[in-house]
Amino acid sequence: MKEVNKTVKWVLWIIWLAVFPSGLYFAYQVSPLQEFDWTIVISVVCLAVISAYLPFKVDHSTIFIIHWINLAAFLTYGLFFEMLLMQIVLVPLLFRARMTFKTLYRFPLNSTMFMLISLLAGLVFYQIGIDVSDGFWPLMLASGIYIFIHIFANHIYLYVFNWIIGNRYSFLSSDTKLDYAATMLSMPFGLALYYLLVLLGPAATLLLGIPFLAVTLILRLYNTAERVNIDLAKSAKIGHQLAERLNVNEVLDLFTNKLAELMPLDYTYVLDVHTNRDELVLLRRIENGQLEPNNLSPVRKGEGISGKVWETGDAMLFGKKTEWVEEVEGYIPADIESIICVPIQRDKKTVAVLLAASKKKNAFGTHLIAILEILCSYLAIAMQNARNYQRNIKRSERCALTGLYNFRYFNEQLEKEFSRLEKGHMNALSLILLDIDHFKKVNDTYGHESGNDLLKELAGVLIETAGGDALIARYGGEEFVLLLSEQTKEEAQMIGEKIRCAVENTIFEIQHDLSKKREMSKIQMTVSIGVASSPEDTDSYKNLLRNADRALYIGAKQKGRNKVAVYAK
Ligand code: GH3
Ligand code: MG
Ligand code: MG
Repeated sequence: MKEVNKTVKWVLWIIWLAVFPSGLYFAYQVSPLQEFDWTIVISVVCLAVISAYLPFKVDHSTIFIIHWINLAAFLTYGLFFEMLLMQIVLVPLLFRARMTFKTLYRFPLNSTMFMLISLLAGLVFYQIGIDVSDGFWPLMLASGIYIFIHIFANHIYLYVFNWIIGNRYSFLSSDTKLDYAATMLSMPFGLALYYLLVLLGPAATLLLGIPFLAVTLILRLYNTAERVNIDLAKSAKIGHQLAERLNVNEVLDLFTNKLAELMPLDYTYVLDVHTNRDELVLLRRIENGQLEPNNLSPVRKGEGISGKVWETGDAMLFGKKTEWVEEVEGYIPADIESIICVPIQRDKKTVAVLLAASKKKNAFGTHLIAILEILCSYLAIAMQNARNYQRNIKRSERCALTGLYNFRYFNEQLEKEFSRLEKGHMNALSLILLDIDHFKKVNDTYGHESGNDLLKELAGVLIETAGGDALIARYGGEEFVLLLSEQTKEEAQMIGEKIRCAVENTIFEIQHDLSKKREMSKIQMTVSIGVASSPEDTDSYKNLLRNADRALYIGAKQKGRNKVAVYAK
């Protein structure tokens, strides 16, 4: 829906100022309210106001059924009274439709519309020349025409207004069809009310009003139950879709997208319980449909709305700003009105918190709490599954001792990079193979456990020296391998040299595993390095590894160790 611009708003007020007094004056001239019963007037006004305040809700549409009351009012006291009644009813109608300052233009728009429609329908009725005293069938016919004009004029008016501001308006949308049906059905009710008013006076409004309002309330309850059912079915579907995602980010994206389809949302925040720090840390922040950075301060237990929900494990729902403004601490956008905040629980333990908000007042029904709690339990499980999956993937790619990539992963990457090279997406691919010198002696002297510690420390040195340039993996045993994309043989040789020097100059600290005291020992060691490159030396990735291996043993180990050797054909 397009925004209504300022000029249109001004024009609406000016038209209203011109139409309102003259319309009332004209109507009074046509059908002055002379002989009337105050009790009837008041009871009809009350019935109309209550009906306007309790609209029907079908799916997402809200339907106000008041035509039957204004038909009865028209038949009883004429055009002026009916027109006045419609103007009075406009107040609760707009209140129910959540008019804000920004949409204040709806008042002159609807007031003028009601007035013109009253005038048109009333004048046509008078023009037909049928009188209320002409008996049931003529009156029924005239009332039918009267109601028909009401509906039709209403939709034409809305069509013209939407056309002026550049919106599409359909005469046959599900909302308007529902409106036609409800209004036509209200005709017999209107006639019945008219006859009963003649017969019983104000008691007629009770006789018809009570069952009418009771049916309205029952339908509203039924509609809520229906909504719950629909939302539950949707939640189950979302739950299944969430379970299929194996990546935490994808799970969160899907969840927040589906949530926005399920309910009217302007803001969504997912906060994760950080057990180590005992804080709620922002995981997702969506404001006005935009993903925003997670750069808000963490929330402590009991602090603000989300902190309280985390502490108590109970959901919180607010319909308007005045209800929550006292509760809030820290960040919250100023234009929020409605807030719903639920714990995300797994095994009855709160693992995260969802806070959703809308700029509209009373945007969330209470039934949404139950729906959101179910959805959030799906989310908790899906997130855990995705996290486990990602952890397992990481584990399967890494060496458990050093945290470096394992040889399997390295091989896959080598194959991929080689195919990039073959396709011409890369100019050079180099490989460094590294073997610790006389490592057996370290094991023999300090023990296997200390040897392992040394391997871990060496991994740290490799990451520090070449982490930015290479993919580093543990080849096996005390041998490591580095893959250098887009690096020539000379560049790789220089990196190899950097590593060799770094290792030579590092003092490694290990615990003496074999001595009784297990004292710390400082040791130094050296590495031998072999370098090979493609396409310079070979055009097969298997040969690249073989060449580096040959360089390592022939060029470095055999020539005295602590050397960097480059493969030579
Ligand atoms: P050089 O390479 O200089 O010829 O001598 P080296 O003693 O290092 O000989 P080589 O590379 O052939 O031997 C590997 C030794 O490394 C054998 C074993 O004791 C040790 N080693 C291999 N894998 C591990 C491991 O995972 N942990 C420990 N602590 N030692 C290992
Ligand atoms: Mg070895
Ligand atoms: Mg060795």
